[in-house]
Amino acid sequence: MLNIILFGPPGSGKGTQAAKLVEKYHLLHISTGDLFRYEMGNNTPLGLLAKEYMSKGQLVPDEVTIGMLKNKLEAHPEAQGHIFDGFPRTITQAQALDQLLTEKNQTINALVALDVDDEEIVKRILLRGQTSGRPDDNDESIVKNRINVYNDETKPVFDYYTTSGKAFKVHGIGTVEEIFNRLCESIDSI
Ligand code: ADP
Repeated sequence: MLNIILFGPPGSGKGTQAAKLVEKYHLLHISTGDLFRYEMGNNTPLGLLAKEYMSKGQLVPDEVTIGMLKNKLEAHPEAQGHIFDGFPRTITQAQALDQLLTEKNQTINALVALDVDDEEIVKRILLRGQTSGRPDDNDESIVKNRINVYNDETKPVFDYYTTSGKAFKVHGIGTVEEIFNRLCESIDSI
């Protein structure tokens, strides 16, 4: 059982790399951003609630996000491991994830963080916004807010896993294949 957290700022390439990691390691991909967008697309109560936060570049409240993650985990007891993409984004979420996995006799094996500087990220997200159809990718002030939220609330999650020796930083600039190889090197070293 392999449980990996794919970490990094918005627009750092987590979605692209997650798809490749899933194929190589046969893991269930859990992206909380994708799950929220799915709910939004179906206009469910959860989707409508998430939209209020996502459209401003804020985090959806922890209890809502953790509840959704728990449901997703419980819906797939057959999974041979997981890749968590966009979760945990707060220390509270990290603690909840640890507890959920402990209940299943599992643990996080590694957190791999894509390291990309803020300037590059703003450029990439605004470029993605031209085709992604995501309103939160189109507006520079919302993008900057997402980066601030990442720096204030999400970055500490890296340190949380550093203390247990599970956190790896990977240079996030280069070709998709180069970055993928760096991630695999870290994962294969555990
Ligand atoms: P990106 O990594 O490009 O920001 P995501 O799809 O991961 O894109 O997230 C989009 C938005 O969804 C976030 O800005 C936030 O509003 C919401 N979101 C996703 N994951 C979480 C989470 N773990 N906790 C709270 N909010 C989340």
